[in-house]
Amino acid sequence: MNDSSQPFLSQGQLADALRGCAEEPVHIPGAIQPHGCLLCLDDRAETVHQASANLESVLGISPEQALGESPRRLLGDSLIERLVQALATTQRVPESLSAVLGPGQRRFQVTAYRSGARLVVELEPLPLQDDHRLLGVLNRWLLTIGDTTRLDELWNRLVAEVREITGFDRVMIYRFDERWNGSVVAESLAEGVDSLLGHHFPASDIPPQVRHLYDRNRLRSIPEAAAAAVPLLRAPRSDDDTPLDLSLGVLRAVSPIHQEYLANMGVSSALSVALHDDEERLSGLLSCHALGAPLSVSPSVRDTVHALVQIAVPQLMLLRSRHENELLQRVQVGRELLNKAHERWIDPELIVGQRGDEWLTLFRADGLVLQHRAHRGVHGTVPDAANLERIEAWLKEHTDRADAWYSHHLKETPLAAWRGDCCGLLAVALPIDTDQPSWLLLFRNEQVVTRRWAGVPEKRVKTHGDRVVLSPRRSFTEWQEKVSDHSRVWRRSERRAASDLAENLAAIIASHEIHLLNARLRQVNDRLERLASHDSLTGVWNRYRIEQAIEEELAAAARYSRDCALLLFDVDHFKAVNDDYGHEIGDKVLKTLVDVVEDTLRETDRLGRWGGEEFVVLATGTHARGAEELAERLRERIMETSFEEVGRVTVSVGIAACRPEDTLKTLLARADQAMYKAKQTGRNCVHSVD
Ligand code: GH3
Ligand code: MG
Ligand code: MG
Repeated sequence: MNDSSQPFLSQGQLADALRGCAEEPVHIPGAIQPHGCLLCLDDRAETVHQASANLESVLGISPEQALGESPRRLLGDSLIERLVQALATTQRVPESLSAVLGPGQRRFQVTAYRSGARLVVELEPLPLQDDHRLLGVLNRWLLTIGDTTRLDELWNRLVAEVREITGFDRVMIYRFDERWNGSVVAESLAEGVDSLLGHHFPASDIPPQVRHLYDRNRLRSIPEAAAAAVPLLRAPRSDDDTPLDLSLGVLRAVSPIHQEYLANMGVSSALSVALHDDEERLSGLLSCHALGAPLSVSPSVRDTVHALVQIAVPQLMLLRSRHENELLQRVQVGRELLNKAHERWIDPELIVGQRGDEWLTLFRADGLVLQHRAHRGVHGTVPDAANLERIEAWLKEHTDRADAWYSHHLKETPLAAWRGDCCGLLAVALPIDTDQPSWLLLFRNEQVVTRRWAGVPEKRVKTHGDRVVLSPRRSFTEWQEKVSDHSRVWRRSERRAASDLAENLAAIIASHEIHLLNARLRQVNDRLERLASHDSLTGVWNRYRIEQAIEEELAAAARYSRDCALLLFDVDHFKAVNDDYGHEIGDKVLKTLVDVVEDTLRETDRLGRWGGEEFVVLATGTHARGAEELAERLRERIMETSFEEVGRVTVSVGIAACRPEDTLKTLLARADQAMYKAKQTGRNCVHSVD
């Protein structure tokens, strides 16, 4: 601060003063600007209850004559009728009305609105000749707007056009940041006028209640900033003493603090039109200043400026969303990664390795982290691993995962201690439903900027008796401040693009996880299928499966008149094996036996475990003789095999060659009979039933 006149203030006093400024009731000043006059009527427009003290000089009727009088007598039946009708359904008469009024038969612009239970009529004298250029201006503007392709171009054209039709010395576009500080992003200047382009204005320059007024009434006109306000007078017997809300009008008196502010800036006349974004939030102002003599802008020119802005706003939104879409299109995971996602695990490290540089460029970020479960991909400058964990834990605890969390000033957030060298963070949770959220974190380094303030941003204070009040700063000469510990701000388009990217990444991860689940499901199914058809000890077909195969083969044999035979064999004295060596060794014997048998069989023969130590061989395309040879070969091979620990093991084999009329049952019965005979014949032999 370079202001020596500032008294010493405690924090509490300063806070009080700021609150006082923010609470100044600017919408009920009890006075108007002097270039027009005001009448306040009851709800049914039967009586004039209030009139501005300048009524006579503007309308030619004295306040004494007007107060308590019927407005129809003063303003005419037809005008009052129109107003009453229009205000029955809306708060403010929407169209621009003009009427010839008063003893001087002057033409006035009429602005009428409801204010609580009252109707307010504001009258502004119109110039004798209407400006017929204005329709042409609007037509030209419509064409100009259509072929504007860039935002800055649009702003520049708007300020130039407004300056041309109004004659103001400075026309600028003033944009608010998230904290309501303003900066000038475009301007058009008369010769010799100092530029404010790029200058910042503190949020307190336009306090909240003034911003709210811009939400209700988008136009603010101050034809003569220094002019003394004209008080409103009440009818002598009026018992209505609630202050009149003038928010919706055009004549509302300028607050003394704002008058001082404009005077300090050297502004003699001002006109502002609010700019709202697509979420209806006040995003900026078109602001016009006259710097020498006051500039009187006629109501129709003023309305035209308003119309120019209204026409520009949709194009502005279009350009902005086009810009956002471009970013959205460029920030993609990449088709090849998406395509491969289901095939193999795409590690965050791998994704970040492949796309990291590109994403850092598009997001104008310095570091990025992709975290999914225990996997983390890191690229560029980010806090260390321990701090990343703390940051993620904090985000998990304190943020709503549906929305991006961001800051360009981490030092002022609870993450300050863990931010390392980073000043900005945009954190988006991947939309995956897990307890442990997955994150896309984009970090930005410090961007030291020198911010040019239009004067020292803090307001001066002065004492008013024992009260401390704010008074606007006197100096608007350039004042520079080095802003450190900040990163670039995260633009809305970048936040949206990051959410989009997070969705893409979540889709990749989900697709991969579905692939993993499917693979696991297939494995389980394979195992179930195997369990259903295979014997768990030896791995050969179980009884169910071999029965199925026998039935199929019987059907094929009948149809194609081909041979097949069944061999049923049983281990001799197997009980003794178990008794002598134990069950486990018995099992081993069965396994070895199966190996030996499989080794002896042809590709087309099928082996199944019938139960216990009994097995079945289905020999396809084999007649009785062939089956005997096969059975003999089997018996010999088994007999020749030395079973570990047990030594020799023999089998008895029964053979049944299939007959055309055979069923599973009859074929098996013969094989069983044959085996029984083999047992009876002394075991370790082959028997068949004719
Ligand atoms: P034989 O057939 O020569 O008349 O005499 P055996 O001793 O083999 O008589 P039996 O068919 O009555 O007995 C079969 C034995 O096989 C009884 C049972 O304990 C044993 N066994 C059946 N299944 C298994 C198995 O999976 N593992 C083991 N270790 N033993 C089995
Ligand atoms: Mg047996
Ligand atoms: Mg046996």
